[in-house]
Amino acid sequence: MIESTPINEIKGIGDKTAKLFASLGIERVGDLVRYFPSSYDIYEEPVPISEVEEGTVAAITGHVAGNIRLSRGRKLAVTSLKLKDLTGTLDVVWFQLPYVKTMMSKSSAYILRGRITRRGGILTMEQPEIFESIEKYQQKCGQLWPLYKTTKGLGNNGIAKAIRTALTELNFKEDYLSSELRASYDLLTFKEAVRAIHFPVDKEDYIKARKRLVFDEFLSFIISLRALSEDKQEWQNHFSPEDTQASEKLVKSLPYSLTKAQEKVIREIMKDMNSHRPMARLVQGDVGSGKTVVALYALLACVGSGYQGAMMAPTEVLANQHAEGIKKMLLAAGLNYSVELLTGSLTAKEKREAYQRIASGEAQIIVGTHALIQNKVEYQNLALVVTDEQHRFGVKQRETFASKGDVPHILVMSATPIPRTLAIILYGDLEISVIDELPANRLPIKNCVVGTGYRPSAYKFMEEQVKAGRQCYVICPMVEESENLEAENVIDYSESLQEHLGDAAKVAFLHGKMKQTEKEEIMEAFAKGQTDILVSTTVIEVGIDVPNATVILIENAERFGLAQLHQLRGRVGRGDYQSYCIFMTGSKAKATKERLEILNESNDGFKIANEDLRLRGPGDLFGIRQSGLMNFKLGDVFQDSMLLQQAAEAAGEVTFHQGDNGTVVRTL
Ligand code: ADP
Ligand code: MG
Repeated sequence: MIESTPINEIKGIGDKTAKLFASLGIERVGDLVRYFPSSYDIYEEPVPISEVEEGTVAAITGHVAGNIRLSRGRKLAVTSLKLKDLTGTLDVVWFQLPYVKTMMSKSSAYILRGRITRRGGILTMEQPEIFESIEKYQQKCGQLWPLYKTTKGLGNNGIAKAIRTALTELNFKEDYLSSELRASYDLLTFKEAVRAIHFPVDKEDYIKARKRLVFDEFLSFIISLRALSEDKQEWQNHFSPEDTQASEKLVKSLPYSLTKAQEKVIREIMKDMNSHRPMARLVQGDVGSGKTVVALYALLACVGSGYQGAMMAPTEVLANQHAEGIKKMLLAAGLNYSVELLTGSLTAKEKREAYQRIASGEAQIIVGTHALIQNKVEYQNLALVVTDEQHRFGVKQRETFASKGDVPHILVMSATPIPRTLAIILYGDLEISVIDELPANRLPIKNCVVGTGYRPSAYKFMEEQVKAGRQCYVICPMVEESENLEAENVIDYSESLQEHLGDAAKVAFLHGKMKQTEKEEIMEAFAKGQTDILVSTTVIEVGIDVPNATVILIENAERFGLAQLHQLRGRVGRGDYQSYCIFMTGSKAKATKERLEILNESNDGFKIANEDLRLRGPGDLFGIRQSGLMNFKLGDVFQDSMLLQQAAEAAGEVTFHQGDNGTVVRTL
């Protein structure tokens, strides 16, 4: 088999299963082996019952004390027992697995491994796996079991099995990193790395595999960046927006005055757009620093000078919010420009009509998602593209636009506080502006880091805020394994929160599995104040602006990267009210506390990013969610900053050769 072999040629994959794989974006054997685990399950040494912690997965050696009970409700069969060791007794339950009762016997010893939760105030192990002897458990101990994002009808085992088969049958191409390059950066071959990322024999093995694959990701990113900056030299600027009357009208209509930093960045942008090359500028500014109005200033300068301007957001919710926000601001400024919303969820007819208005120039400011750069979209005279939190797109899309005609100016907006050393690598072809000042009316957010025991008080606090007319967010614990589980989790959580609060607050929820229109309705209702508390996954992470929201409670804060937590926190403190961020953690580990303390002490994104970098060693690869900020598949610009620097160094030293099986990268 080769990489382009369709996956239904793998033994055991029929057309039906192939369709399920296709829904995960896997059509060929090459896609399959590149479908990396989203995390791993590790079977650790058993612990004493007295040491188990809520929210963790633990293995316990003990014997069954008392009877094994099976109760059958109308819908639910619950098997339960008490497991005892020298240090204590633990409640254990299984749902919908009535046969467990027949598998286990009273007074016998077992090793049970499962998640520890709190049920009715009592620590309980749920749905554990059963091992009859320590030997059986030891066989699994220390190994990493891959966990993949699954889809309905295609479980983790099915995916793992298909990958295992593919790995034995696939005839790998010659490695595209030459052996001398691999040697100088101590990298596995691609083949070894792919094997080990799926089925690492131990942690070491995993770390090595990941290193190679992250290196590849960074290297190809940097190489494509460099290729782009070479092209750029030839581009001429065909759009000089000199007329800023409309922009100034906007500024006059604002209920506040711009900060010095905003004004400075606006000047930089205007200068760029009127120079002889198209602009390529990144505006970095912490959450809440007011990037939107800066972008709108630039857009209005273009539109006011007779051109079109576009703004691209990472999600439809955000695109929608930007479109609505822009319309409102134009209205307030008495400006009569047409705003077009273009997203994937428009009907075919609506899209066609939007395309027409864009092509004719009737649409002046076009706001949307990636749908903005589909081939079908022809612009009349697009002078500026603003992207919000879309770093790589800001770079990539220039190619697309360049191939279609004149190259527009590109403005990339980012709240990602990337340290300067990394920014120079990652944004090699962009000029960088920084909005290093928050609007003066802002009260700093008050933070606290608390254990789960504080939850009732946190709820009480939110209730009081709601009573005072404010709104709150709750970020739910994550479920890595699948989006479906994550969705269920959010629903369960919000139901029990609603129950807890009764009539005191109206709870709504939001998750990634919802239809776009549904998400928008929920966000809209929250923005309008029709709901009080929004329980959500991290889908609300970027950009959402509801100034009336004053509390964000983040469950399982220990599982997020600091940069991401800082982003989440940025959802509050956007208005005139004192705001609060509650980091709740299920872990008592010292390192966790130390990390979260950084956030507790600082509201400064740049400082946080630097500290995060300092605290995280190369061994810290598990459990913490990738910052997800640059959309690398495995790599994390903070965590892997060393590798990023190495890849940048390597990129400066490589040449490309035509090998037997494709391009090979060698050192000079
Ligand atoms: P971000 O940089 O995170 O995208 P936004 O552009 O969404 O921030 O701005 C956050 C909030 O601050 C918005 O409600 C906006 O109206 C307000 N804002 C922007 N600039 C100023 C300013 N100079 N003074 C006061 N409020 C401002
Ligand atoms: Mg923003």
